[in-house]
Amino acid sequence: MIEHMERLVRGSDLKKENEILMKASVLDDDEIEEDDEVAAATASKIPRDISNHSELSVKEISAPYTVPHYPIELEEQKKIAAQQLAQQIALKELEERAIHDEESISNAGIQRIQHAESIDPTACLAGQTTSSILNQLDFQRVYISGEYSFGAEDPKIYQSLRRAMRLREIYMQEAFQTFPEMAKRILHRTHKSSYQPETVNYDEPPVIADPWNIKIPEDLNCILKIEDGVIHVYKTKEDFEGKKRAYNLRPFNNFIEDMKFMCNIITDGPLKSHCYKRLAYLTYKYQLHVLLNEMNELRSQKAVPHRDFYNTRKVDTHIHAASCMNQKHLLRFIKKTIKTRRNDYVCLENGKPLTLEQVFDSLNLTSYDLSVDMLDVHADRNTFHRFDKFNAKYNPIGESRLREIFLKTDNYIKGVYFAEILKEVMNDLEESKYQQAELRLSIYGRKPSEWDDLAKWALTNNVYSDTVRWIIQIPRLYDVYRANKILENFEQMLENIFMPLFEVTNNPNSHPELHVFLHYVTGFDSVDDESKHENPMFDKEITLPNKWSDEENPPYNYYLYYMYANMVILNHFRKERGFNTLVLRPHCGEAGNIQHLIGGFLLAENISHGLLLRKVPVLQYLYYLTQIGIAMSPLSNNSLFLNYHRNPLPEFASRGLCVSLSTDDPLQFHFTKEPLMEEYSIATQVWKLSSCDMSELARNSVLMSGFPAEFKQHWIGANYHREGVEGNDIQRTNLPGIRVSYRYETLLDELDHLRSDDKNWERQKRTSVTDKTHSKSSLPHKRLI
Ligand SMILES: [Zn+2]
Repeated sequence: MIEHMERLVRGSDLKKENEILMKASVLDDDEIEEDDEVAAATASKIPRDISNHSELSVKEISAPYTVPHYPIELEEQKKIAAQQLAQQIALKELEERAIHDEESISNAGIQRIQHAESIDPTACLAGQTTSSILNQLDFQRVYISGEYSFGAEDPKIYQSLRRAMRLREIYMQEAFQTFPEMAKRILHRTHKSSYQPETVNYDEPPVIADPWNIKIPEDLNCILKIEDGVIHVYKTKEDFEGKKRAYNLRPFNNFIEDMKFMCNIITDGPLKSHCYKRLAYLTYKYQLHVLLNEMNELRSQKAVPHRDFYNTRKVDTHIHAASCMNQKHLLRFIKKTIKTRRNDYVCLENGKPLTLEQVFDSLNLTSYDLSVDMLDVHADRNTFHRFDKFNAKYNPIGESRLREIFLKTDNYIKGVYFAEILKEVMNDLEESKYQQAELRLSIYGRKPSEWDDLAKWALTNNVYSDTVRWIIQIPRLYDVYRANKILENFEQMLENIFMPLFEVTNNPNSHPELHVFLHYVTGFDSVDDESKHENPMFDKEITLPNKWSDEENPPYNYYLYYMYANMVILNHFRKERGFNTLVLRPHCGEAGNIQHLIGGFLLAENISHGLLLRKVPVLQYLYYLTQIGIAMSPLSNNSLFLNYHRNPLPEFASRGLCVSLSTDDPLQFHFTKEPLMEEYSIATQVWKLSSCDMSELARNSVLMSGFPAEFKQHWIGANYHREGVEGNDIQRTNLPGIRVSYRYETLLDELDHLRSDDKNWERQKRTSVTDKTHSKSSLPHKRLI
């Protein structure tokens, strides 16, 4: 796009200056989106003043932004240029949908430019097909014209960025995790779209009548064996003897190489400057967008009947089950239980069972004495940068016994109390209807029976709700178990965590409850204090898991790789059997080394926290380009690692990173019955977010969540997986198409930049054809990908 502008402006003798053109590209359509029939029906109900464009036309180009000596005839050319840019976006869409043969794919880039040059704007606007595909929204766009200079002289910048993205694509593909189509097209220079027509009826919410009634399939009896920390599947005995693995994965050594490459690029000076400038540009561009379009966005929202922020879907993308209730709720629950079930045997002391009454007698407490202050589970100023103190807050009244009784799934009473309080939380969520949560349950890897116990707990106590999906968190506590002689080496921990999952995939009848329970598990989380000391970088000499028997904890990325590696094989196995696959969604970049974010970038579907991205522009830019979800919890950070006013969330959101708001631990951080709303409320007030910003965060939270596609379609629109305005249904998301369009066009533009070195090369090639004296050796055409 920008190149075309450059040529056009150059043709008008304006190549000396770069300027920002602001253009109200007023079209004849209504200003709310009409991407479905419902929207079209409501368009007729829009009040007259909203659909009237006269007000907009006046603002078309306001005086302070025009260059005073601008020739009037150029004004027309500017308009044409802007229209052509809009057309190019439409053409991209057209091209994506067309079926290209291999030949045309290789020439597509050049054809596109030629096509764009030959457009007669008036003819295009009249063209029925184009304008219907165009679905062009009417808002004020910010365009940059002129030569793009910074970094252009160094093609390595683009090569490095593309290679980093390509690496992520490889890891995502391998594990059946997601990678955006837009980025794929840039990396592979193709215009193919993997768009598939929709078949789901999304008007009615999907109903799961009996969640535990799932048919148990046949057993396969494959041979499973853990080798160098990764469990492998052998289909037959012959395969096993011939060492013919059913599924393979990118080896650990390649991961080490990839990490090294990433470490090099995030410290590369010119690349850092480039990414920093692009990110700054994104901030300023967004500010201009808001300045110009805020009122239009607001009007679009007001024009939508029924929908407002309260009844748009919001998913709490990062919340731990053991702390998902607020402190008042836990207190009430404990008091109620002491009163009504005082004679329950709840724990063992010196081999002797104790009743709940005896436990509280030994603490010298009655239910009347208990108060929130006494419970002392809330984080306060003393927990700042003290993760150890924060961890202690999980123990009500400082008693680990009470945590064991009330907040564990695997205890003397088989987690009955915990199931009950969770069900109360689920009821609250169901009542509020528009809030969902992805609760984290723990698997520690101390013994192989943990999964079965967890599944039994869920099924026996019927802990299920449509509003909740499970993520399994694995605490990085190998060093503790090793010190207590529970484990002999790291491989044992991996085996305890993953072997039951392979077994249940192989022979579902061997763990029927687990097979059923896994339907509602969407991924893995890796948790612990990231600020703990570790050596973040490791090389090929590092000890493999079966030899890792000292008491030192493996580094963060080592944990992450082995979780990922086992998940890859497991996912291939599960996919082949037609079962659901899992994703990796670790805590990452909350504190500690920035290298954690490299592990997250390469291996994870999306991450929680990501605070440290503010210090690493290259990674932040890459997280933007590949739209990796970041579940941020500013209130949690405020108590632990970063003061609220310094939180980078508003900056990330303004730049267009895929950010959502989550609560982390309502027990420790929140005061009200609706912690997620509390989180939104505080963010909105402190950072002065608009209702459009809030809707954007809410939509992001649904997009990055692990809920099934049918749920997402019901919540945010049938075509949510499509790109741009087409993927947004304002009737459901309350998010104006203007904002979606802005994000989409901006991201396309940034991705297009990644081919700047190609463009320079093409341009120079063209010049060299006409100018025979041009030296060919200076052409930067070497490609890394
Ligand atoms: Zn957390």
